[in-house]
Amino acid sequence: MKYKESDGIVIGLEVHVQLNKLNSKLFCGCSPRYHDAEPNTHTCPVCLGLPGALPVLNEDAIVNIIKVALALNCKIEKQTLFYRKNYYYPDLPKGFQISQYDYPIAIGGKIKVNGMGGERHIRIKRVHMEEDPARLVHKGPIESSRYSLIDYNRSGMALIEVVTEPDLRSPKEAREFLNALRNILEYLDVFDDSLDGALRVDANISLAGGARIEVKNISSYKGVEKALLFEIVRQKNLARRGIKITQETRHYDEKRGVTTSLRTKEEEHDYRYFPEPDLVPLGVCNRIDEIRGSLPELPDIRRQRFVQQYEISDYHAKVITSELRLADFFETVASEVDNPLLSATWIADVLKGELNYRGLDITAFPPKHMIQILQMLRSKKITEKSAVQIIRTILDEGGAPPEIVKRKGLLKIEENIIASAVAEVIKENPAAVQDFRNGKNEALHFLMGQVMKKTHGRADPNIVNKLLREKLQCT
Ligand code: ZN
Ligand code: MN
Repeated sequence: MKYKESDGIVIGLEVHVQLNKLNSKLFCGCSPRYHDAEPNTHTCPVCLGLPGALPVLNEDAIVNIIKVALALNCKIEKQTLFYRKNYYYPDLPKGFQISQYDYPIAIGGKIKVNGMGGERHIRIKRVHMEEDPARLVHKGPIESSRYSLIDYNRSGMALIEVVTEPDLRSPKEAREFLNALRNILEYLDVFDDSLDGALRVDANISLAGGARIEVKNISSYKGVEKALLFEIVRQKNLARRGIKITQETRHYDEKRGVTTSLRTKEEEHDYRYFPEPDLVPLGVCNRIDEIRGSLPELPDIRRQRFVQQYEISDYHAKVITSELRLADFFETVASEVDNPLLSATWIADVLKGELNYRGLDITAFPPKHMIQILQMLRSKKITEKSAVQIIRTILDEGGAPPEIVKRKGLLKIEENIIASAVAEVIKENPAAVQDFRNGKNEALHFLMGQVMKKTHGRADPNIVNKLLREKLQCT
């Protein structure tokens, strides 16, 4: 553990979410699906900032951001304004970013996370809309790269920025927060998480007595936790040497896992925000109820429903609903296999573990295979051990359960065959038999293991146990 509560860690996040499922960018008709495209092929006068080009607001982007804001329990503002945030950087062709300032779309929400000492509510300060700058590509590390390449395909993409209050108390909590947020966004179907740069985070962190440090543009979930851990160690080391921590903006180097200084922190007023004259103030109140009505069932609600409807544990419900596709998978299986508890256990504990181990997701496993496996288990045609073997075989070699059962000879074996294996084992292990009769219970486990080995894990352990006890007691 690199940090403790007495370090006085205070973390706030600014999360940028790219609305990459829209049909066009935020202010022009260019396609936002550029991720596999050649650089600078999805551009037009608007997103290149050419003189005379005017922005036209994408209505669907506003619908999406309202969905997100409602899902985060925010209050939607009656009227909202776009602003120009002025600064020069090569990725910003207009010399300003169209963003929002004192009239954001939404304020005051919260997200529930599993934090230090149980469940905590992390407050959302605001949710606003802005345009994405272009993408800069460097050769090697940013500080030593001899040139930058600019790809304007990303310029003008719709971005949602979710800003938290400084409520997070550890890097782990920050990760939990991002997981919860990602989960909600996935259910809302507003972005494709798998695309490069779909979610980027600026993290503010301070330790007791030190100034606030901002780490810019962290582009992975794991990166956020690592960058924050790095900052805690760095800031603690400076403090130990009596060096005062002053306000600063830093860059996170994903490859090296370190943060490097970019500049001493600028203040908000340095950006000379002023209302964007090319966009009128926007009133959205007439559509809020309609949008609220269109919201899907969100992760928390679905988790509660799973606990009530299927009577599965809250832990299983949480694991299963933490991924939309896994939750759908469970419901498909549970509707066919008349035992939700069994389905939940095998999906959340066994299948999920096997998938994680192989770096796969649930799309690698058809639900109908799970249904067949669980039905064979329920009708006692296979043992649990064989069920695991079938799952592994499907993931590693492909194939379907009935065929794998046949090919690998996994049908559970009959009681009379188990009985003869039991008899052989008793004959072959007189010492263990004697131990058992002298009251050593471990000897029974040993003998059971021998029978299971002889029957290649295809014997029902309950029957083995029953037969062994009978034989040992009567001979
Ligand atoms: Zn464009
Ligand atoms: Mn921003």
